[in-house]
Amino acid sequence: MRAIHHWIDGQEAPGKSGRTADVFNPATGEVQAKVDLATKAEVDAAIERAAEAQVKWGATNPQRRARVMMEMVRLLNRDMDKMAEMLSSEHGKTFPDAKGDIQRGLEVIEFSIGAPHLLKGEFIDGAGPGIDMYSMRQPLGVVAAITPFNFPAMIPLWKLGPALASGNAVILKPSERDPSVPNMIAALFKEAGLPDGVLQVVHGDKEAVDAILDSEIIQAVGFVGSTPIAQYIYERAAQTGKRAQCFGGAKNHMIIMPDADMDQAADALVGAGYGAAGERCMAISVAVPVGEETADRLIEKLVPRIEKLKVGPWTAGNDIDYGPVVTRAAKENILRLVERGVEQGAELVVDGRDFSLQGYEDGFFVGPHLFDRVTPDMDIYKTEIFGPVLSTVRAASYEEALGLAMDHEYGNGTAIFTRDGDAARDFASRCNIGMVGINVPIPVPLAYFTFGGWKKSGFGDLNQHGPDAFRFYTRTKTVTSRWPSGIKEGAAFNFKAMD
Ligand code: NAD
Repeated sequence: MRAIHHWIDGQEAPGKSGRTADVFNPATGEVQAKVDLATKAEVDAAIERAAEAQVKWGATNPQRRARVMMEMVRLLNRDMDKMAEMLSSEHGKTFPDAKGDIQRGLEVIEFSIGAPHLLKGEFIDGAGPGIDMYSMRQPLGVVAAITPFNFPAMIPLWKLGPALASGNAVILKPSERDPSVPNMIAALFKEAGLPDGVLQVVHGDKEAVDAILDSEIIQAVGFVGSTPIAQYIYERAAQTGKRAQCFGGAKNHMIIMPDADMDQAADALVGAGYGAAGERCMAISVAVPVGEETADRLIEKLVPRIEKLKVGPWTAGNDIDYGPVVTRAAKENILRLVERGVEQGAELVVDGRDFSLQGYEDGFFVGPHLFDRVTPDMDIYKTEIFGPVLSTVRAASYEEALGLAMDHEYGNGTAIFTRDGDAARDFASRCNIGMVGINVPIPVPLAYFTFGGWKKSGFGDLNQHGPDAFRFYTRTKTVTSRWPSGIKEGAAFNFKAMD
């Protein structure tokens, strides 16, 4: 059985707790590895060592730190396929999708090469007589990243690029469900020139997370995961005076206006709803066609597309549309919610409940589901299902559709499909949601913009990546300096005694 250890002081470090978690191959349902779960004492020791290593790293000039990022870009590209294979085998997503996971993280490392520019402060000359004022951005010290299973490369890299390039040391606590890729990332950072101890990977569960939250040394916590845990981490981090940005779950609506290109909208919905088995925080899980006729046309276009979806293991080739979900518990939860939808009166237009894949009967595969005539009081509407289940809520008007998206407790992403610029502009301006797509179903901003949801999808200030991340991982110091007039007042042409 493969053992996955912590990564401490630049090398693999077997855990001492005697506790491990199973890492599955979601396609077969078999346990393929055991990952160590850290104790509080192990986490504390990793943090203390990181604090020592951070002193020198924080004092290293930003351009040298940026060179580590440059080399990291080369190494991630070099090892892309190897990492993507490991990612697919532990997560279950298809090989091209796993490469996308790494690529979107790599782009934030590319952005972090700009650290010297992003870390510049402000300066005003002559704020008063002989007075200048300037600000500097300094690293926080040791910061922590607690990340989810669904993007085991991208989200750690989103945290590591800006945090490390700003001069911090990082304690990364990745998801225990697919922990190998974060270790591979740590090994690549070492190869890229990052000093030992500046990046520590501790694997674990609540015990490790609580040790991070209670540490006096940790200055900031970046979390991504489900909303109840995001809220818990935000509150507990605040109790010990830490900065926290905690991103949570989602229920992303896509509005389809009567004038939309219906083929384009249906293609977009199928990709955004079922890609990665719906295990994306930016997946579209609610389609909101405006008007009965639009709804009928949309369903007519969706059904054959969904029925044609190819579900299978990543090893079956690149034409697989999506793979298994991450655990048996996730599969059971999805199917339980589907049953609830049927009980509560939603119309199950595409029924994936009996889906089974020959040769992979024990794998965590879930067939695609499409619900029509879902209403806001149903559990399948209120809950984040995080599986290949798309719900359709029919709206009578644009205002009703907008209201649905706005009244939902989550506010991560949303999209509108229309040919009308006025409707699109109004939607983007008025909705209370962090990321908006106009004829784009999954509007994940590029590395040089920032990523973050509103409402219960995001707690705290400042978003991930882009300039916000550099603000999150640094604190500002403002200096007022006055140099009274002195030596320049009169030139001296002879040696003077020091009287
Ligand atoms: P999760 O909340 O179960 O786990 C996230 C992290 O928290 C993991 O590292 C896990 O070990 C830790 N954790 C779990 N339970 C804990 C507890 N009781 N106490 C302390 N720590 C705990 O989330 P997940 O299932 O790994 O990821 C899926 C969720 O993440 C979905 O809700 C998805 O929408 C969300 N997500 C959000 C974003 C975003 O940017 N908003 C991005 C990706 C995923």
